[in-house]
Amino acid sequence: MDQPQVLPNQVPDADAGTQNNNAAWTPPTDNALATPQFNWEEAPQEEDDATKMKKDANFVAVSGYEQVAFDDVAVAPPQYEPPPTDQRPEEKFESTGSIDESTVRSAIIDYRSQHCCYGSKPANEMEFKTITPSSAFHYHLETFSESRSTKRVFVPFYGGNVDGPQMGAAPLPWQLPCQPDNLFMDHTKTLEVPHTSEIKSCYNCYARGFIRCQRCAGKGKVTCPNCRGNGTKRAHHNGQMVEQCCGVCKGTGRANCDICKGYACVACSVCNGYKLLRHFIKLFITYKCHKTDYVHEDTGLPNHLIKSVNGKLLFDQSGIQVWPVATFPVAEVNTNSARIVDEHRTARPTERIVQQRHNLRAIPVSEVEYSWKTTVSKFWVYGFENAVYCPDYPQSCCWGCTII
Ligand SMILES: [Zn+2]
Ligand SMILES: [Zn+2]
Ligand SMILES: [Zn+2]
Repeated sequence: MDQPQVLPNQVPDADAGTQNNNAAWTPPTDNALATPQFNWEEAPQEEDDATKMKKDANFVAVSGYEQVAFDDVAVAPPQYEPPPTDQRPEEKFESTGSIDESTVRSAIIDYRSQHCCYGSKPANEMEFKTITPSSAFHYHLETFSESRSTKRVFVPFYGGNVDGPQMGAAPLPWQLPCQPDNLFMDHTKTLEVPHTSEIKSCYNCYARGFIRCQRCAGKGKVTCPNCRGNGTKRAHHNGQMVEQCCGVCKGTGRANCDICKGYACVACSVCNGYKLLRHFIKLFITYKCHKTDYVHEDTGLPNHLIKSVNGKLLFDQSGIQVWPVATFPVAEVNTNSARIVDEHRTARPTERIVQQRHNLRAIPVSEVEYSWKTTVSKFWVYGFENAVYCPDYPQSCCWGCTII
């Protein structure tokens, strides 16, 4: 098929491509025509990309999207109703148990064996004066929410029907249905807003479909790589070195550019040569999981240790919006659940809550007062795995290794 004739410095009619077909510019295939297709010397001075894009930013107004440009614009969700007060679910809490002396003994022996520099004698010999069981409480709230933003984007217009404002009113950002792929997992989805397409000339190539070849600066020729521009090459001839005319450039010192093959033009990278762009409004839906927790623990055990061990699940609920825990026997747990639930509801007005879940775990903690020789101190056994926190283990120097 014949290539469409591109006359020097002719700018195609931008409106011509709004029909269903749109052909891309491609360089001529006949190598005999390997001459510049465009006189770049006479082309007007080009602006930078941002200036070129802005010049073409007059779009048909889309109702509800008047502020949308090439930058991201966040859209706050509409107001929505919290759950009615008479639907507070029933709260049921499980109870926890305590541990005995033999469990404490094996826990401290295990702990010692994980520290090669700790002597084994104290763990085996220490006397447990008191074992005081208690429960730590770990409350955890997760709020899975979504935020929406819009911006104008464009793709090459390959032809086909155009779903523009003439097809109807564009749905508003929060009217477009979208389901998350997974609850409580951060991810982003995108949707094209219907009825917002508009066909425009490509800003980058001024609707030519091609741009100046950078390799040869739009000249079509480069210094001949075979003779480095000399036009001649040294060669052996009848046992003598002689200068011969370069076979590649025929002595001119200039050869066709290897990138544009001599046409001085390459297909525009923004429109892929199609001269036209389809602009439309894109909706970005960002799903995010926010997590906050609280530990209630009365002993000298550092609170953060509670978070990583297993305990008993006392309470577990989920819903679009959860009620704070209100009837747990430990008042601080209720107070902090109310505080965290309230923070999650009010802290992010640009996000809509999709789902919440919270739970309360009880983690057994035994405070053990022990004596070994002259040492009197405490350690803690905590979690279902009987983890030990023993900050002043009696023999914890390197010489301890030799005693084992
Ligand atoms: Zn040459
Ligand atoms: Zn070139
Ligand atoms: Zn272009």
